Amino acid sequence: MKKRLFALMMASMMTMGAMVGCGGGGSDAPAPTPAEDGQETEGDASVDMSNVEIGVCIYKFDDTFMTGVRNNMQAQADTLGAKIEMVDSVNRQATQNDQVDTFITKGMTALAVNPVDRTAAGPLVEKASAASLPIVFLNREPEPDVMQSYDKVWYVGARAEESGTMSGEIIADYWNANKETADKNGDGKLQYIMVTGEPGHQDATLRTEYSVKALQDAGIEVEEIGNDTAMWNKVQATELMNAFITSQGIETIEAVLCNNDDMALGVIESLKANGYNTGDPSKFVPVVGVDATAPALEAMANGSLLGTVLNDAENQGIATTNIAAMAAAGEEITEDNVGYEITDGKYVWIPYVKITAENYKDFQ
Ligand code: BGC
Ligand code: CA
Repeated sequence: MKKRLFALMMASMMTMGAMVGCGGGGSDAPAPTPAEDGQETEGDASVDMSNVEIGVCIYKFDDTFMTGVRNNMQAQADTLGAKIEMVDSVNRQATQNDQVDTFITKGMTALAVNPVDRTAAGPLVEKASAASLPIVFLNREPEPDVMQSYDKVWYVGARAEESGTMSGEIIADYWNANKETADKNGDGKLQYIMVTGEPGHQDATLRTEYSVKALQDAGIEVEEIGNDTAMWNKVQATELMNAFITSQGIETIEAVLCNNDDMALGVIESLKANGYNTGDPSKFVPVVGVDATAPALEAMANGSLLGTVLNDAENQGIATTNIAAMAAAGEEITEDNVGYEITDGKYVWIPYVKITAENYKDFQ
């Protein structure tokens, strides 16, 4: 009975997340389960969370998207009544390895890790396995063999291909709707700049590849006139864009595709400093990002950012915390008790949502 209530509570949370993802609506969603016998309250469940202590390592606290995930993990742990401790791995894998050792020594009962280097997840799994602790990776996907090397490993993330495709489609739609003005040099080709995230991150590789593929699939001939990393970082993206503008000339740039919103906003700073994207339609470069952070939605509202893709920090945070907590409590990990579909017994994939002028207000 109580178990069912808990599962329903989880399912309703997920539905709430899905509703946000669809831009609201959906009045047929099951209502959060109230106490049928007057005993159940928020976070109450048949599962005893009193011994759950989740040790969380985040690759770098100073990352806009991961800050959103972190806040949601904390909130969900509070909801469940589970203890959680989060540390900043300050972008150093060696530091993160030590932090995992410390969590194990302190007697934490689950680990959740956003690796600094996703190819270095193997040793972390070995540490977890030696201590018989569950370990949930998030946002930076370990190699498949590492995922298979221990039965208590899970991964929570999003399919990067999906976000790449959606961001490419946003630019394709703009190009098709503004044929006259978008093709600035009138050569029939779209000259674009690609600003990428950290090399080796699956989201950087796949968003880049699939955004270009979406343009080509829309029948658009493309020409890349610049491509470099800004390491997910706004300031670096401004500097990079300044350099591209100096070398290429601003009038040659017909679109800028960015692997995340912080970099898109950095690019826009540079464009603005050059008198672009401030409201004059003859001085506009379409820029697209990924994440749908609050400042990105603000930039969409003022017209400087063309579009973005929701990278759902809320559901990624909730799913990670639910899996870590349930595994720490000794429960089997199923869709019923974590509230999210589990693929191949190990993966939770949170869907992306395309954000355009039509729907951005629903996400603000
Ligand atoms: C986000 C980026 C973030 C990165 C951190 C990506 O999924 O889109 O904004 O910097 O994850 O690993
Ligand atoms: Ca052109």
